[in-house]
Amino acid sequence: MAILRAVQADITTLAVDAIVNAANSSLLGGGGVDGAIHRAAGPGLLDECRALGGCLPGDAKMTKGYRLPARYVIHTVGPIWRGGSHSEQQVLASCYATSLQLAADAGLTSVAFPCISTGAYGYPRELAAQVAVDTVRERVAREQAAQEVIFVCFSAADLATYTALLADKR
Ligand code: ADP
Repeated sequence: MAILRAVQADITTLAVDAIVNAANSSLLGGGGVDGAIHRAAGPGLLDECRALGGCLPGDAKMTKGYRLPARYVIHTVGPIWRGGSHSEQQVLASCYATSLQLAADAGLTSVAFPCISTGAYGYPRELAAQVAVDTVRERVAREQAAQEVIFVCFSAADLATYTALLADKR
């Protein structure tokens, strides 16, 4: 049975098997959480990312964690919010599902996600949190995905949203 929890933290400080990066499709670094991960990991991460040839929205690719306390980084590309009728929800769900699949395939048991697409990409944060929690719950219920999934919130508002969603067992 997987444990799902929410914390307010800088994702670069977490000593888990894998942290997920909300990257852009070039995988060559950017602002927000992407920039923070590259700064903390050091230049080895960018070198490995250069060889990956980019990543499509909704897909994910894995690298080592270099100087991070996390062993691996799973780079996924969220949707850019364009009003909600351009498959944003499906693409965001795919980010969470594909990242968990990569982690499971590699035998990883603890995975930490940021609030993908809710910064520069403009996805409304409460809608995004619902997609994140629904997708992760669905995946961990039907296969041996990660045993511990951490939703990493940068803001107190996100932490409150995730805490409420996770408390609702339905
Ligand atoms: P996107 O382009 O997918 O929207 P951003 O990095 O702009 O990605 O924002 C995604 C989320 O990551 C936002 O909620 C932002 O506050 C959060 N964030 C930014 N830096 C960090 C960090 N160091 N650790 C965890 N979350 C972070």
